[in-house]
Amino acid sequence: MRWNKEAPLPRPFHFSGIALAVSLGLLLALSADEKQLTVVTPQDHFSVAVQQREGKEYVDLQNVLDSMGHSSATVEGENFKLHYGRVEAHFQSGEAAANVGATTVQLGGKFQLDNGRGWVPVSSLTELLPALTGGHAEYHEISRRLFLNGGGTRFTAELKKGSPSSLAISFTAPVNPRVTTESGKLKLTFSRDTLVMPAQNLKYDDPLISALHYSENEGGGEMVIEASEPLLASFNDNGKTIVLSAAPKLATATSPAEAQPPPGTSSPAGGTASLESNPNPPAITSSGSATLGEAGSAPHTRYLIVIDPSHGGSERGAALSDSLAEKDVTLAIARRLRAELNDRGLVTFMIRDSDSTISLDQRAVVTNTSRAAVYVAIHAGTLGQGVRVYTSMLPETTLAPGTFLPWETAQSGYVRSSRVLATSVLDQISKNPSKIPVAMMPAPVRPLNNIGGAAIAIEVAPQNGDVDTLTSGNYQQMIVNALAAAIVYSRASLESAR
Ligand SMILES: [Zn+2]
Repeated sequence: MRWNKEAPLPRPFHFSGIALAVSLGLLLALSADEKQLTVVTPQDHFSVAVQQREGKEYVDLQNVLDSMGHSSATVEGENFKLHYGRVEAHFQSGEAAANVGATTVQLGGKFQLDNGRGWVPVSSLTELLPALTGGHAEYHEISRRLFLNGGGTRFTAELKKGSPSSLAISFTAPVNPRVTTESGKLKLTFSRDTLVMPAQNLKYDDPLISALHYSENEGGGEMVIEASEPLLASFNDNGKTIVLSAAPKLATATSPAEAQPPPGTSSPAGGTASLESNPNPPAITSSGSATLGEAGSAPHTRYLIVIDPSHGGSERGAALSDSLAEKDVTLAIARRLRAELNDRGLVTFMIRDSDSTISLDQRAVVTNTSRAAVYVAIHAGTLGQGVRVYTSMLPETTLAPGTFLPWETAQSGYVRSSRVLATSVLDQISKNPSKIPVAMMPAPVRPLNNIGGAAIAIEVAPQNGDVDTLTSGNYQQMIVNALAAAIVYSRASLESAR
């Protein structure tokens, strides 16, 4: 294909971060049984290897100190003399106390000399470090995190009463939790963030949001918000604020139609694998557009198409030109696709219809909660030409009815459906007389792996290498027409696969 010759890069550059994250994840997984102490300072955080010695967890003291300033040590026989700033400390191999300046610090375990390095019990750091550095140290054993000099992220939560209410959680630094839902609860898992807060149990006298619980565990922190309806988490202020509000709902008038699947398709009742512990989560659909009326009149309500304009808000996506951000192009294309699908009588839901920041996890949560038949993420880039259609890289598996889907591989039972859809898109775009180059490939594009339904991501690159075409109504419409046709034509095979 022409596109392959001109642009040999297999994927656009803004996915390279994802690929890097994947390989880092592998590296972490490989060394998972090596214990680490996470040291959190006000500036940053880093990990130090932990060793099991004499039944206790030990660290190399200088490894911890190096983050805060220069230390030097001299070893004479069994004696270890450490200098940090103006403080001099004396340790002796096999001794459970040390002299730091004028203070004697109990180590709670024997000091160990190993190849010129001094090892101390992790638990002694809360006394040793303040004596050496004059700062403050707080150790959280459960998450193996050491917070120095006020380091760590704190939060406050504020319920904004109204109809409906919302809960704004503000953090002292940007956070990137994983968002999951189960019946009546939304869970935020902070494994990459260093929350320093003590456990919290906040109760709210509110019909929507009744409680917020925060606790620390081995992986970090976990926040559970209890609510009477499914919640949507949106990230604002560059990830420093998370606002929880009621997810948009399908009008109840449409439910009788849902009960009757179209003739010739298998009944989804009881056989549909769900990510939720609740087998019948409330469906989510478009927020007040004309599609709701159609939903009530057709027996095809469940062929719900979720359209995801990628990026948004503080997350701009690729810089397509000096003034053009990917997030704006994806929204424009998504709106066209919605109009096209609605014209063809299909029910759609837009992940965002404004310039808002929504996490990848939350995009998947909303898609899965709505039990969408089709998920289409829209991206735009400047590399290459035409359209690339991505599917998940997960291997194909067959799901037994009622199977609980693990979040990380929710897509695996739908890979075949996703390929059917991608092939149909390829087919439709190739038919266009403008000869738009089109290619289809598996790629690690998030959140495809987390979607429990046919899921593709399309990336729109310029026509004939002219970046201006990305905003051209003509070009966008050609692509959207092909996408809509593909979604309509694959319907029978996607529905029979569900
Ligand atoms: Zn993108």
